[in-house]
Amino acid sequence: MTCPACSSNDTSAFYHGGLVPVHSCLLVADEQAAKHFPRGNLELALCHGCGFIFNQRFDPSLSAYSADYEETQAFSPLFREFISDLASRWIARYDLNGKTVVELGCGKGEFLVEMIRAGAGRGVGVDPGVHPERIPPDVEDRITWVPGFFPEDYPQLDADAIICRHTLEHIAPVADWMRTVRSAIGTRIDTVILFELPDVRRVLQEGAFWDVYYEHCSYFSAGSLARLFRRTGFEIVDIWPAYDDQYLIIEAKPAPSPEPAARPLAIEDDIDAIAATANTFAIKHTEMIESWREQLHRVVDVGGSGVIWGSGSKGVAFLAALGDESGLIRAAVDINPFKHRKYMAGTGHQIIAPKELVGIQPDLVIAMNPAYLDEIERDLDALGVQTKLEAV
Ligand SMILES: [Zn+2]
Repeated sequence: MTCPACSSNDTSAFYHGGLVPVHSCLLVADEQAAKHFPRGNLELALCHGCGFIFNQRFDPSLSAYSADYEETQAFSPLFREFISDLASRWIARYDLNGKTVVELGCGKGEFLVEMIRAGAGRGVGVDPGVHPERIPPDVEDRITWVPGFFPEDYPQLDADAIICRHTLEHIAPVADWMRTVRSAIGTRIDTVILFELPDVRRVLQEGAFWDVYYEHCSYFSAGSLARLFRRTGFEIVDIWPAYDDQYLIIEAKPAPSPEPAARPLAIEDDIDAIAATANTFAIKHTEMIESWREQLHRVVDVGGSGVIWGSGSKGVAFLAALGDESGLIRAAVDINPFKHRKYMAGTGHQIIAPKELVGIQPDLVIAMNPAYLDEIERDLDALGVQTKLEAV
């Protein structure tokens, strides 16, 4: 198959994930509907030309992204601190005080709010899932919401900064889309481009199957991301890992000429390493699932119970990977009140509030993101729930 990032035909599949739920974050109000949620094929391929990884069976027509999408992590204090620090850093580094910022794929808008609070003058948020009623009153008159997509509903990018966080990994024709971004900026080459997305290197190294799911059709390392940016008309200012190496942040500027010659940064030299870890991903993945199954059996077989903490995409992927044995998990806990009493796509597990653990008294809590372990431990202590706590 042709690489969507560099058009090379030198690509090969390395992981077959089978049929998985096509959405992980859509709220499903009914258990049966959750269990019969539409599925799509997941088959990861690696491009040997540029290091890009993609689901070569991805079908965009199965996607139904809308206002029912509940992806926000903003109920977590740790996450809020992260986005607030990042907003302050970008405002200072790129002198965005009083300037206009546009965020493509702004989700519920929490980052745009942070940018305004950190000093940006005006914000435009483009996303079909925006909920303007959730925006705090102190910034609402400085933010314009476009409930739709770029470029269909918002074709021109006339701003001091273009922000795009956790969105590019949902787009299949990545090079075409980046070229559209570049041409929408036009001659305004002082615009700064700020992207954040998951780092596939860590996913592959750790066999992190919970980070591979249908909505993520495109997977980048620092190298493949930088190469895509250069190929589509951007110059890289900086690229760095963030949030316990889970994310990549790239800061770029439009290049005056289409394919600028530039010396790659040291962090980009990763094609061989990515190829090597891709080859071991399937084995690591199987070992990891086996070890969780065994651990859950040790708890459940003696009358105990286990729950997962985190009902987002990682949770859906984790339960799907357990397959027939997902019943070993009693429920999914989430701190986002908008998700309570809803069901997980695929396996139909109910999403419950942390306080319901008082009645369940679980013997094992599996955190879907190690970054939140301290936070979860504090919540469990506050509730008086004594349990073993582990993270994927
Ligand atoms: Zn490629």
